[in-house]
Amino acid sequence: MATKRDYYEILGLPKDASVEDIKKKYRKLALQYHPDRNKDPGAEEKFKEISEAYAVLSDTEKRAQYDRFGHAGIDNQYSAEDIFRGADFGGFGDIFEMFFGGGRRGGPMGPRRGSDLQYDLYITFEEAAFGVRKDIDIPRTERCSTCSGTGAKPGTSPKRCPTCGGTGQVRTTRSTLGMQFISTTTCSTCHGRGQIIESPCSVCGGAGRVRNKRTITVNVPAGADSGMTLRLSGEGDSGEPGAPSGDLYIIIHVMEHKKFKRVDYDVISELPITFTQAALGADVMVDTLYGKVKMNIPAGTQTHSVFRLRDKGIQRLHGHGKGDQLVRVMIKTPTKLNQEQKELLRQFEYLSKGKTPEGEEKSKAEKHKKGIFEKVKDAFES
Ligand SMILES: [Zn+2]
Ligand SMILES: [Zn+2]
Repeated sequence: MATKRDYYEILGLPKDASVEDIKKKYRKLALQYHPDRNKDPGAEEKFKEISEAYAVLSDTEKRAQYDRFGHAGIDNQYSAEDIFRGADFGGFGDIFEMFFGGGRRGGPMGPRRGSDLQYDLYITFEEAAFGVRKDIDIPRTERCSTCSGTGAKPGTSPKRCPTCGGTGQVRTTRSTLGMQFISTTTCSTCHGRGQIIESPCSVCGGAGRVRNKRTITVNVPAGADSGMTLRLSGEGDSGEPGAPSGDLYIIIHVMEHKKFKRVDYDVISELPITFTQAALGADVMVDTLYGKVKMNIPAGTQTHSVFRLRDKGIQRLHGHGKGDQLVRVMIKTPTKLNQEQKELLRQFEYLSKGKTPEGEEKSKAEKHKKGIFEKVKDAFES
């Protein structure tokens, strides 16, 4: 076991230091090493060390024992718990509970974590496809900078609650029918905080927290889609003193695009083509996320045929490669035709049947037509 350091040395005080000096020095060091403020590894150990030194030296009887017999005088006389028990640690919460359990820190009686917040972020189709940085304003609760979150007026500090002795809980024992019932309730004086504030901070009114509007930059990754949630750890409401902040959840909503739809990482679009392009084949220009791209329509294309443009889709989220663009062609039937166009289409129609418009078949059809009229005429006149 390592040799324990001298208590006076730990606090950096001479052997004849006054009780007042010991208190002052402890406050200063405790502020510096309190695990709620100092996240350095070893800070908690250091805090425990100075708290133990203070617990002994601030107690007349323990100090006398230590002065005469050194660490042996304390360790043989008191248990670790006894060393801490009963010492007044001022505004630093319940040190006894902190080091020997009791479940106050983080437990249901402990300081509450800040609330999680939710923000609906609307982005365009392109922003989702390529990723975007957005600055958003979040109204949230933050630690009061005037009192550093203690809730006490600057220059003062919260006092240990006299009702519960800083535990935040009150134990009541009652005897019924010869049995003892022990119940624990939240202290009504300090509402479970273990501290009371005699002079509240004028900015936050003693809450230690204030409402602020904070601008936060959100990085939406390329490939994001509607319904995706981004979690920004610790960017929610700030917690009660000693408790962590909540998280901020950004919910992505992708707005509709005039030309494109999306299925997973593929972009879907429609392209109107003429029936001659469909029949004869053609090179056409297609809008993609990456600009216009030339696409070949082969001769004899049917309406609603789908063509694939490789790698013209959306960047895969956290992955490699892209989706494709799927182009569905729609053949447009012409609605306004001039005489010449109509005549050419009629010729096209006759040719499709292997006949010519001026040929024999036409006259045969007219003869056939005449024949019907004559049959009808005969039927009525006979
Ligand atoms: Zn209390
Ligand atoms: Zn304040």
